[in-house]
Amino acid sequence: MEEATIKKLMTSAKCSGCGQRYEIDDIEVIGHHDELWFMSVFCMACHAHYLVAANVDEETAGEVVTDLSVAELEKFRDADGLKADEVLDMHDFLKEFDGDFSRLFSGRKA
Ligand SMILES: [Zn+2]
Repeated sequence: MEEATIKKLMTSAKCSGCGQRYEIDDIEVIGHHDELWFMSVFCMACHAHYLVAANVDEETAGEVVTDLSVAELEKFRDADGLKADEVLDMHDFLKEFDGDFSRLFSGRKA
């Protein structure tokens, strides 16, 4: 999976704040851990800044993505009707994660 592909996928996602679609230039790929990609996105329309985690399977590429800030992940954890496993996985991941992206993406185990 290429960064450019991920970014392209992300342009089909909308800002959870205002519904504006992201532009390629608004998306910065931070890195990935297996199929879990982290991006920083900035909405030009409402100036919201989100950390996005996308669980992207090579075979199902095109299925998007989790467009939530870390705080929102907390909020949605208990929400009714939430079926997106990747959100829950991400929550568990973040719970364990100490925020050191550089170490995460260097491939070393914590
Ligand atoms: Zn927005």
